[in-house]
Amino acid sequence: MRYRLEAGTLIVPDQDGSVIRSGQITWEDQTILSVGLQMPNPDPVDQVIQIPQGIVMPGLYNGHNHAAMTLLRGYADDSPFFEWLQNHILPAEARLTSEDIYWGTLLAASEMIRSGTVGFADMYFEVDAVAEAVMRSGLRGWISRGLVGDEDASLKKLQQCIDWAARWRQRGDGRIVPMLGPHAPYTCNPEYLHEVATVAKAEDLAIHIHLAESEDEIRLLQQRYNKSPIQITLDSGLMDNRLLIAHGIHLSDHDLMLLQKHLIGGIISCPVSNAKLGNGILKLQELRAHQIPVGLGSDGAASTNTLDMFQEMKAMAWLQKVRTHEPHRFTARDALHMATADTASILGFRGGVLEAGRPADFIVIDGSKSHMTPEWDTIANLVYAATGSDVSYTVVAGQILMAEGIITVFDEAEVRHQVTTRSNRWRQEGANRGL
Ligand SMILES: [Zn+2]
Repeated sequence: MRYRLEAGTLIVPDQDGSVIRSGQITWEDQTILSVGLQMPNPDPVDQVIQIPQGIVMPGLYNGHNHAAMTLLRGYADDSPFFEWLQNHILPAEARLTSEDIYWGTLLAASEMIRSGTVGFADMYFEVDAVAEAVMRSGLRGWISRGLVGDEDASLKKLQQCIDWAARWRQRGDGRIVPMLGPHAPYTCNPEYLHEVATVAKAEDLAIHIHLAESEDEIRLLQQRYNKSPIQITLDSGLMDNRLLIAHGIHLSDHDLMLLQKHLIGGIISCPVSNAKLGNGILKLQELRAHQIPVGLGSDGAASTNTLDMFQEMKAMAWLQKVRTHEPHRFTARDALHMATADTASILGFRGGVLEAGRPADFIVIDGSKSHMTPEWDTIANLVYAATGSDVSYTVVAGQILMAEGIITVFDEAEVRHQVTTRSNRWRQEGANRGL
């Protein structure tokens, strides 16, 4: 099928974020054919979509997520990070079944499609269920199983990841990219991280890990190994592969130098999660000065509550302005670029740009709403005024996943019903045990 979408405005590639008025985008199968001005006598296509007040922009990529944590949205809010993780989240996760995770991931997919995310990097468990949900949703997924490296079964689980990756590389229709997900240096010892690095190299798998997220983590690793998380990661060999570093907040000058020299991939910042858990603000200017790529992610809904990447763009811009007291250092254009092309590039993917030959991953924002009026600066409106609920169309790999605000690929009401029923069941089980 060949499509043409005629819209009020298109955001086209340029570091400054150029805008085309009365533009059109055509695509066929999974690829953009052309982007430009509307023509009086356009080439024939199979379907024409006209959205005169629509703003077409590249879809957003979420570089760090635990999608099924939508099941734990609001479960243990306002706790300190380690208490939140060890006392609340990990015990709750131990009770989740693979079916729970399937429905939790689809709930996340509903939310992501609705708020303009076209692909996400995920770390969780029961990854067959995660991958099945991603397949059904139409989204792209860079999926890894979170590995904890201090238990007897750790090496067996690593082998299972290799088998799983081989299976899904075949089945994933190009939308699923298996990765390895050692959780963090405080949950995986250095020997195990070395094992993961060796396997990643042999199997050509990228790696997704949490690093330098909290001050407690830095202290703990100093006490245990007398090293920073970045040094541990480098010494284990993990930087020989493409590496997604979630967070990367607490970095020394030496860490920055190591990252500049060795990192292939980049840092995925999750500003809302970092703020809400009291973990700190990214050293963006220092990272930029060292040419270290930075993308955006949400983290799981248990810490961030919503997977809306428009919120992450705003939070990144606000926090950098708060940190530097120099509002011109990080602009709306920077935020948009970070959530689209920069994050895609860290994932090793050519998306995030409206240009012929690129993957057909894009979204349409309703530009007719009061809070989007007037349009002095379309990109400032998109980053500072729009929210995820302004997205009306989401297209991934050429497939329309949402049209006029309605998800077309699965029954969203059924997904909400499944998750509500499951969370009510846990609540009842907890009440029966006097919790
Ligand atoms: Zn995380």
